[in-house]
Formats: sequence, structure tokens, C-alpha cells
Amino acid sequence: MADTTMDTDVVIAGAGPTGLMLACELRLAGVDVVVAERLAERSGESRAGGIHSRTLEVLDQRGILDRFLDEGELQPVGHFSGLYLDFDESESRHPYPLMILQSTIERLLEEWAVELGVRVRRSSEVSGIRQDEEGVTVELGTDQGPATLRARYLVGCDGGRSTVRKLAGIDFPGTEATMTALIGDVELPDLPEDYVWVRRTPVGDYSAIAFEPGWHRVITSEFDRVDGRDEPVTFERLKESLIRVAGTDFGMRNPRWVSRFNDAARQAARYREGRVLLAGDAAHIHFPAGGQGLNMGVQDAVNLGWKLASVVRGQAPETLLDSYHTERHPVAERVLHNTRAQSALVRPGPQTDALREVFSALMVFDDVNQYLRHLLTALDIRYPIDGDHPLVGRRVPDADLKSSEGETYVFALLHDARPVLLDLCGSAEVAAVAEGWADRVDRVEARSEDEQWPVPAIGEIPAPAALLIRPDGYAAWAAAPGHSPDTAALRTALTTWFGPAANDEGTQRQ
Ligand SMILES: Cc1cc2nc3c(=O)[nH]c(=O)nc-3n(C[C@H](O)[C@H](O)[C@H](O)COP(=O)(O)OP(=O)(O)OC[C@H]3O[C@@H](n4cnc5c(N)ncnc54)[C@H](O)[C@@H]3O)c2cc1C
Repeated sequence: MADTTMDTDVVIAGAGPTGLMLACELRLAGVDVVVAERLAERSGESRAGGIHSRTLEVLDQRGILDRFLDEGELQPVGHFSGLYLDFDESESRHPYPLMILQSTIERLLEEWAVELGVRVRRSSEVSGIRQDEEGVTVELGTDQGPATLRARYLVGCDGGRSTVRKLAGIDFPGTEATMTALIGDVELPDLPEDYVWVRRTPVGDYSAIAFEPGWHRVITSEFDRVDGRDEPVTFERLKESLIRVAGTDFGMRNPRWVSRFNDAARQAARYREGRVLLAGDAAHIHFPAGGQGLNMGVQDAVNLGWKLASVVRGQAPETLLDSYHTERHPVAERVLHNTRAQSALVRPGPQTDALREVFSALMVFDDVNQYLRHLLTALDIRYPIDGDHPLVGRRVPDADLKSSEGETYVFALLHDARPVLLDLCGSAEVAAVAEGWADRVDRVEARSEDEQWPVPAIGEIPAPAALLIRPDGYAAWAAAPGHSPDTAALRTALTTWFGPAANDEGTQRQ
């Protein structure tokens, strides 16, 4: 619970997908959290239209995947810059992207947040912050006038133009926009029935994606103009752009919303400044090719949530928070890199046409497909964690298990967002070490149903004998079968990630 001098443990700025997911992760760990959201109600706008494999796995790890599957549609093909990409069913229980509108994702996450006891405070715009040794004072502009909230930590999940990032003095270096794209949900009565996919033209490209009966999402990209940030985005502007790019507006009418984006790619120089952290678009923006931003924000939240909770509860030292930057900054760097490449691949002109043909030819090769697929699905991420076993630092595959309580699977063990020491060989030594962390780490004895586990980017490996799984689903330690487990390394891993054993002196309390 929050200490008495604080209004709450953590304030999150922004109730977008990242802020809501982070709030849920913190609540699962018993941390008090307030989400301050500028808007009076959800906008209903949907920039994102899909989520990838690793995010589906993350939702499965928390036991809420069915809510999303019920409202979306799995799509067995994907694309890299509009070029078809295959997915591989052997890599994940959820290998395909789920087409689901961002507005639905936000509604489902907010419903879950409310169930978990998150307080979402709307019409509350973060406008000032003051940090000191004990906490952060967050100034809010609200519909009732100015207000303040005092918390131990503030996380800016307030989108690409993040006020929190600016107030914390964190640089946002990167590359400028070189094009302008307009997007709108509209009716398109004159769109030819044989229309499919993205159409490239000498001026740019356009796409019209049917997302509801009678409704299309239109996107136009123009490469010879860069709109100023303050230029208004209007329905007329979208119509004119479609006429320039496609030669017609297909009878476009009845806009639900229109918006604009570009290919500027920037990343926060650091994800933490004292008691202020950044996640999601507040930490990274890029061209939305391949639909990666929301996925990355949700995964930032799942990486940060349990670490911040552990520090707030005094179980781990504040330095644990530095691993958030160390692990997640390179992930976004890779996404910025691949989206820059994708934006180069959509420019008009005969040179790009030729480049796309070469690229398409290369994508016939399995290794190329796999490489590009992993850029999008994020199933191959390996965090820099010490350890010799190939699973260390990687997301743990969702293997089927059998325990004395019956059949289960790895992700089901993570529903409470607690760390799990999975003992697959009934080791007395592992059990003895686990005792010191019994208050924080669940020890589960089970048997793997499969002798081999599939690991993206590596291939199949023998099922481990024992495995320490962090709440985000990544392996912090693993023992290979047929060897005596390295319990010294296990102790180090437990201490590094979950603080000293309960009976050790010097447990950090803040
Ligand atoms: C055309 C397009 C298509 C996309 N498609 C995909 C896709 O298919 N898949 C995918 O993964 N990603 C996609 N993205 C990216 C995705 O939309 C973003 O990455 C995602 O919205 C980021 O979520 P977020 O919560 O970090 O930020 P946001 O969604 O921007 O949410 C930030 C929240 O903070 C609030 N806020 C702002 N300032 C303040 C303040 N000072 N105080 C309080 N609250 C504040 C805002 O009102 C907002 O609710 C797409 C983007 C675009 C433009």
C-alpha cells in the first residue's frame, strides 16, 4: 500500500495501451496506482489495427487473451513493407497477428484495469513535475482546476509528444519526417470490388482496409511533402490527398475521424531520470509499418511493471530499474531501424520498384522470412542476462506441463505476474535454494510433456531440468538436463532479480 505521505505508489501519465497495461501489471503485484489521463473519455480513434505474436503471448501469460481473441480476427499472413511474409506455427501457440482495433484494445485493457482496482483519473493532464529523494509531486490541470498527486514514481506513458519526457529533460534524438501520411475511417461507395492491398502510384501510395461492413480505413502517403505539426488535419485534406495519389476519391464520405502520421523516428536517450520513467510512444516513435508500436508499448509495460513493483515494495534495490533501459532500449532501437528500412521500401519511383522486386525474391528463402518475421513478432528477443543456457534472456516457450495437480502449460503459471521457479526434474538442491525466496517466487514441480522445446532463432533444444522465469516470461536462469543444477548461479539470479533471500541481512527497504 502507498505510504501515508503519498497519495499513491505510482502515477502513470496516459491511459493509452501502454499506461493501462502498466497499471494492471503494478496492481497484480499489489502496488497502488493512479492513471492520470488528459482526455475526459476514450477518443474511440484506432491508429493500431493489430497485435503480433509476442503480445498475444503476453496477454495469455496474464489469462486475458480470450477477451481479445473474441473481439478480433486472426490473420495467417503478414507483411514487411507491403511484401507478403509467412508465419511459422511451430514457433508459438499464437503464431498469427490478431486484427483488432486499438479502441477495442484500450477498452478491454481499461475494463481489466478497473477489475484490478486501478484508479483512472480522467480530465487530468500532467503539466508539471518536481522530484526529490522521497518521491515525485505531479501537477495536474483538471476540469476542477489545478491539482497535485504525490507518488514514489511517475511513469510517462503519455504518447509521442510526451509532456513527462520534456519535463524530465530527457532528449529525444532521431531522424526527421520525410513524408506525410493521412488516415481516416470513412465510407468509400465507389471503391472497385476487386481492390486489394496497398496500391503504389508515381506520387505515393494508398490503401483502403475494410474493417466493418460499409467502412474503410483509408491511408494515403505522399513523399514530396512534409506537413507542419500545426497544419490542420481535415476530411477535405484527406480527400485531396487521395485524389492526388489515386486520381479519385472513390466517393469518400462520412468521416468518423481523420489523423496524420509520418516517418519521423526518435527514441528517448534514457528511459529513466531518477523517479521518472518513460514507456511506449513516450519513449519511442517511428513509421507505423508492420504495426509494432503498440506491441512494443505493451511489452515495455510488462518489462517494467514487476521491476517497479519490486522496488516500490522494498524487495529490490532501485538499481533494478536500470535493467529496464538496458533491456528495452535496444528493442526499440531495432524497431526504429526496421521501420526506417520499411519506409525506404515504400517510396515511389523505379529504383524502389526494383529494390522491392529484389527484396521479394529474397523473401522466398526461409531464413530471410524468419529474420523479418522475428523483427515484427519480437519472439526472438534476448535480453542481456548472464548465463550459459540458451534460454537465459529469452522468452520461455509455452510448453505443456503435467504436475501433481494435473495438466497445465508454462504461461498459465504466470497469470498472477509472480516469478516462477519451474522444477522439471524434482531437484532437492533447487528446492532448498527456493526456500529463501518462498515469499516472492513460486516454486512449481512439474514434468515437461515434450522432450524438445522450440526456441525461435535457435531451433529445438532439450527441455531444461529447471528454469527461473521472471514475471514477464523471460528466463533468468536455466539448468540443462543431465547435469547437476548450478545452485550458486540460481542464488545469484534470484538475488539480482527479486532481491536478497528473506533470511539474508540487508534486505533493502525504502
Ligand atoms: C496509422 C497508425 C497505425 C498503427 N498501427 C499499429 C498496429 O497495427 N500495431 C501496433 O502495435 N502499433 C500501431 N501503431 C502505433 C500505436 O498506435 C502506438 O504505438 C500506440 O498508440 C502507443 O500507445 P501508448 O499508450 O504508448 O501511447 P498513446 O496511445 O499515444 O496514449 C497516450 C495517452 O496519454 C494521454 N496523454 C497525453 N499527454 C498527457 C498528459 N500530459 N497528461 C495525461 N495524459 C496525457 C493521451 O490522451 C493518450 O490517451 C499505429 C500508429 C499509427 C499512426
